[in-house]
Amino acid sequence: MIKKFISRVFGKKPVKPQGPRIFRAGEHAIRSVDISNSALRVCEGLQKEGFAAFVVGGAVRDLLLGRHPKDFDIATSATPEQVKSAFRRARIIGRRFRLVHVMFGAETVEVSTFRAHHADAEDREGRADEHGRLLRDNVFGSQVDDAIRRDFTVNALFYDPERDEVWDYLHGMADLKAKKLVMIGDAAARYREDPVRMLRAARLAAKLGFIIDPKTESPIARLAPLLDNVPAARLFDEILKLLLSGHSVECIEKLRALGLHRGLLPVLDHVMEDAASKRFVLHALKATDERVAQDKGVSPAFLLAAIQWPLVVRRWRELEAQGKYRELPALHLAMDDVLDDQRDVLAVPRRFDAVMKELWLAQPRFLQRSGGRPNRMLAQPHFRACYDFFALRAEAGDAPQEVAYWWTRFQDATEDEREKMLLPDDQPKKKRRRRSKRGTGKPHENAAQGAANDADSAHDNE
Ligand code: ATP
Ligand code: MG
Repeated sequence: MIKKFISRVFGKKPVKPQGPRIFRAGEHAIRSVDISNSALRVCEGLQKEGFAAFVVGGAVRDLLLGRHPKDFDIATSATPEQVKSAFRRARIIGRRFRLVHVMFGAETVEVSTFRAHHADAEDREGRADEHGRLLRDNVFGSQVDDAIRRDFTVNALFYDPERDEVWDYLHGMADLKAKKLVMIGDAAARYREDPVRMLRAARLAAKLGFIIDPKTESPIARLAPLLDNVPAARLFDEILKLLLSGHSVECIEKLRALGLHRGLLPVLDHVMEDAASKRFVLHALKATDERVAQDKGVSPAFLLAAIQWPLVVRRWRELEAQGKYRELPALHLAMDDVLDDQRDVLAVPRRFDAVMKELWLAQPRFLQRSGGRPNRMLAQPHFRACYDFFALRAEAGDAPQEVAYWWTRFQDATEDEREKMLLPDDQPKKKRRRRSKRGTGKPHENAAQGAANDADSAHDNE
């Protein structure tokens, strides 16, 4: 069975992996102190019971590159049941892949049994769709099978912490040194099985600063439309990984260079083509990358709100121009329209909606600096995030910088100082008259300012 698979994915000249090339201590750069204690304990525990157990995948790659892995995956010859019974706190999870989560304190280590690839002709029925996409992939196999079913050679390295050895079945160490992503087997066939691998190529190349091997890269432009067949929820997970990778700007550039962005992130198609939107979105992405670099938390809802903001503003202005809605109702409708459009493509989970809407709705309110409104704004539960969003817009030239400074000072001021900082109550009206003389200014600012005035005039009319 495995022979058939090898010749299928490796084409006419099967590169039959022999035994692994083993890199012993001193021949590789991994230091076991860089590995989490929990991962070490899992390997030790399984090996004590007589099973093979290795750190595998992205963690080995990152350790060899001197980076800190986010998480440690373990691959073993033990079945999920055997893994479960080897540890006190462990549970079997997953339907598509049965994995075991082993818990030590707050840390969870994911342990998977060596698996074989499952697309060989004999047994394909019911496991691949009409485009060749794998639907099930959960057959136990040997260690070499487990290497071959992975995506890139640099992701198919195993590290045995007990013996301090790297096991390499597929030339991964040499590709890692050459900073090259090489698809295991025939790249086009592997993308057909799982089109998300194209996105992974873009993300990993951008994150690691690797080139994509020409044979691995060349089928992508032709096969990019296969992403349409991937369930929206899986795409969303991958896009989120990409945006939160700490290299989001490079990732998006790579997606565009590979022709993978079209339709996938309609938001980005639009924003990248409009100079003002691009400035704001790139600014938001860079700010996120900086937070990731500093190990600060990043809120997906905040980032999703930022990349969709230019679309909200565009729709908002369209609706206002139709003359049927006042500014605030138009903003509400615009938010719903943008979220609905996105949902079809990316399945942005609804749990993010409330926070995104709160961030968007707060934007025009930052322009109201008189009466009781600023203090009410400060008391809002997510004020800080709303303010950060406004400050980001101001830095990108999408909102008045002077207003952002005002809010920076206002937050830290004493009650008396705040009282003095408030603008006179008629300020918004004056502003409105001045603005209409000026004609069109910065589009986003006007829309936001307009809604602020709308809220004010509603208030004034009471
Ligand atoms: P990251 O730094 O984002 O965690 P990673 O390579 O570790 O990168 P994971 O999604 O954590 O990515 O996957 C762990 C490992 O599982 C990969 O290194 C690779 O060996 C394998 N893998 C993940 N996705 C695929 C896929 N679509 N096809 C084949 N193998 C995959
Ligand atoms: Mg990983």
